[in-house]
Amino acid sequence: ILEEYIAKHPGSAQRYAEATQIFPGGVTHDNRYAQPFPLYITHGTGPCKWDVDGHEYIDYVSGHGALILGHSHPAIAAAVSEQIYRGTHLGACTDEELRWAKAIMALMPSVERVRFHSSGTEATLMAMRLARAYTGKNKIIKLQDHFHGWHDYAMAGSDRPAPGIPQESWGSMVIVPSGDLGAVEDALNRDSDIAAIILEPTGAHYGQLPFDTPNYLKGLRDLTHQNGVVLIFDEVVTGFRASPGGAQVLYDVEPDLTTMAKIVAGALPGGAVGGKAEIVDMIAHRGDPEWDNRERVYHPGTFNGNPLSAVAGSVCLEMIASQPINQRADAMANRLKLGLNEVLGKMEVAGHAHGVASMIHLVLADCDCDRGICTMPHNEIKAAIGSPAVTALKRSMQNNGIDIMGRDSFLVSSTHTEIEIDKTLSAVEMSLA
Ligand code: PMP
Repeated sequence: ILEEYIAKHPGSAQRYAEATQIFPGGVTHDNRYAQPFPLYITHGTGPCKWDVDGHEYIDYVSGHGALILGHSHPAIAAAVSEQIYRGTHLGACTDEELRWAKAIMALMPSVERVRFHSSGTEATLMAMRLARAYTGKNKIIKLQDHFHGWHDYAMAGSDRPAPGIPQESWGSMVIVPSGDLGAVEDALNRDSDIAAIILEPTGAHYGQLPFDTPNYLKGLRDLTHQNGVVLIFDEVVTGFRASPGGAQVLYDVEPDLTTMAKIVAGALPGGAVGGKAEIVDMIAHRGDPEWDNRERVYHPGTFNGNPLSAVAGSVCLEMIASQPINQRADAMANRLKLGLNEVLGKMEVAGHAHGVASMIHLVLADCDCDRGICTMPHNEIKAAIGSPAVTALKRSMQNNGIDIMGRDSFLVSSTHTEIEIDKTLSAVEMSLA
């Protein structure tokens, strides 16, 4: 497999050799690091993208989940192109930011106020700061393995050691096992200084490690209400993908704050935090010097609400609201999930595919789950995903024209059709063989 990969991709190999002298590790995102070298991609259209050696891929990286409309969607391209000539940064309040916020509010009823950022990392940092300011408490409960970006607090509880992060930042984070309501209840009983709980509402890594939704989410909502704790759903991936209104609408559980990025900005750089007015209004100026100088939450940011992301986000969200975008992506994802399970059965490979909406995960280990939610213990799923066979499978799928997100994830867009799904299933079968 590796020989074929090296032989097929001389252009990528050559560029990576140069990149190792320019970028740390040769890459610009931790997850793009790959041995012996990552692929260099030139362009994408709809569900497909092409590498520098001219190979075509059916793309399930989908812009790390941002591309629910596929690559270079004509409506997004037109809106962004037009905006470029009107100005890429107007250094002022704009109609575009109003339109963008209203498009979010139309889809997510829990959002009474919005503040824009440049990334998901900034959104989760701000959500934690708002919760701390609002409650006057310091600590945040984070679930084991859940991902919220790369700022100091978000990295707490990760498997890796954390050089460069002060112990004090982690000291304010309380890590509990994912999916265990009792553990959250214990943490709240033990410590009266908890401001918030933050989680990915379909389970760690958009459902790679799922829990018993919606019971777990409803339980968390009750516990946080009882204890005066802010409930933060990190919907950076699930927002506008788990359903048009995100996981919170799919499971009918309303958080106090929601963090967004990726799809919210139409796959341009951008993020947002939205939620209860009285919490987000901690950022508001009130014209009272005492409040404005001492009490309010500080939030500048050169690219907050930038017009390019605003128009891309508005077009994307308005399409989601008015067209069967999610329905199409979900139907194709379901076809993929059923097909993968069939292929695994036919090939007699121990494994299964699971996932909600258009987020599908492939696990090379047996589980008798048939509800779309995998019931294997998380350490077993993690062990299966970490196996060398999975790396080999990923490389082999790349050799056969399929690129997946990370080691196990297929993020499906509204532009994937039966043709791409069926080609994918044949390629997976070849790769498994
Ligand atoms: N939260 C979640 C759930 C994410 O998946 C990510 C990114 N994959 C982030 C936060 C961070 O977003 P960004 O990469 O835009 O900083």
